[in-house]
Amino acid sequence: MIDEQQLRKIVESVVASVSTGGPAPRPTAPSPVPGASYVAPESIAGQDGVFEHMKDAIAASKKAFEEFRKYSVRDRERLIGILRMVTRDHAEEFSKMTYEETGMGDVKDKILKHRNCAKNTPGTEDLVSRSWSGEKGVTFEEFAPFGIIGAVTPSTHPVPTMVNNIMIMLAGGNTVVFNPHPGAKKISAYAIQVFHKAVVAGGFPPNLFTCVKNPTIDSANEMFNHPDVPLLSITGGPGVVKAAMSTNKKVVAAGPGNPPVLVDETADLKKAAEYIIRGSSFDNNILCIAEKEVFVVESVFDKFMQEMDRAGAFRLDSVSLDLLSKKAFQPNDKGGHVLNRELVGRSACQLGDLVKVNVPEGVRMLYAETPRDHIFVMEEQMMAFMPIVKVKDFEDGLQACVDAEHDFRHTALIHSKDMDRITRFAQVMNTTIVVANGYSNQGDGPDDGEAYMAFTIATPTGEGVTSPRNFCKIRRLAVSGSLRFV
Ligand code: NAD
Repeated sequence: MIDEQQLRKIVESVVASVSTGGPAPRPTAPSPVPGASYVAPESIAGQDGVFEHMKDAIAASKKAFEEFRKYSVRDRERLIGILRMVTRDHAEEFSKMTYEETGMGDVKDKILKHRNCAKNTPGTEDLVSRSWSGEKGVTFEEFAPFGIIGAVTPSTHPVPTMVNNIMIMLAGGNTVVFNPHPGAKKISAYAIQVFHKAVVAGGFPPNLFTCVKNPTIDSANEMFNHPDVPLLSITGGPGVVKAAMSTNKKVVAAGPGNPPVLVDETADLKKAAEYIIRGSSFDNNILCIAEKEVFVVESVFDKFMQEMDRAGAFRLDSVSLDLLSKKAFQPNDKGGHVLNRELVGRSACQLGDLVKVNVPEGVRMLYAETPRDHIFVMEEQMMAFMPIVKVKDFEDGLQACVDAEHDFRHTALIHSKDMDRITRFAQVMNTTIVVANGYSNQGDGPDDGEAYMAFTIATPTGEGVTSPRNFCKIRRLAVSGSLRFV
């Protein structure tokens, strides 16, 4: 039996060899050398879980699934332990490489995201089977694997989503094939190879998780329609969710959000402003659960704006707001507007530079008063800018929140001391997550809140904050006339 220390040594030496092609003496967690390059190395297709063609990634996964069936639930937990360790050790490296490739967000927040994922993703403890007994016999219900899961991951959190998915899907005995976001394909393939080396060194079969080196919409569609893939897990925007849901497969779909915040006259305005900035500025607002627009009751509107200022946000005037809106949303050929992806995940200072406003260093969020139908309110914008809208009263604000959420059924937040209003807000919003008097991260993960976490929050299909049981079939064995022993 290998103990944890021995395992760590094996995993460290194997993982260290991933980018060099042979055993190397470097430590697993790279030191933050000033000026060091954090470009993800080119992965070699055909090695360590990365494939050139989707059909080969699926065929390898099928073989791995048959092998994985021989492993016990306790083995799966040991595998998850390896993934937690590697994610923790590589948090800094993965974060820097992700930033280098995607240009989105904030490296130190990404490091926290990886660590949070390593620590707080649930494992096999989620799969508690049930049984009933009586004079007619005994019935057991167990969580069984589906087989090969086809997963799509977003550009906004490529590695945390991937490793969170691997842990919860393999906890249930499945294997998984990824079509990662093309905008994060290098870091995604690199991370797969790092995890793969570690897991194989820990005594597990190869290809329990695989990906394609050059993901495209075509490779996603090949995965969606492959007969050996019975279940799809989709984490992304509306286009990919719609495409996956139009197949006739079971889909766990984690779609877009546009989380509104309602601040009423009973709220602690100082705390509300601080928490709104804290939640929305994390990783420059690229989290799907993060606060995206705020509705404030008119009797406390001016006071709330002063609290935003005191809490360190920077107010834009109407001229700068217009300029930022024009840069952030560009006309499309259907007469509407489309989000400029170049601005997604940009910091307050970067956005300030774009509109020629000198935003002091250290400012985490820009804000401005806007009308309720402003494009920044109605579109999921994912950058360090917060539109703030004056509403007449709680009921008016509630309706504005419903309109801005677009029935995505994702996340909504309220700051109020009135319990009846909090209850009504949660009932009417009908979102997967409601956070009351807190910041958005408190709705997803015990480092901030009071529950397990996931990077796949299944909104349209209703599984909610996903865990291993959402990727399992429930199977029943009914034994007639025996096994009841009392
Ligand atoms: P995206 O929609 O641009 O891309 C997701 C993936 O889908 C990519 O791999 C892309 O290539 C692929 N894709 C896009 N259209 C497709 C189609 N028609 N057919 C097949 N594949 C297609 O997502 P993104 O910008 O990387 O991520 C941000 C979005 O994801 C936001 O809308 C955010 O709210 C959402 N998101 C949701 C959750 C959640 O848990 N609900 C988590 C993270 C991100």
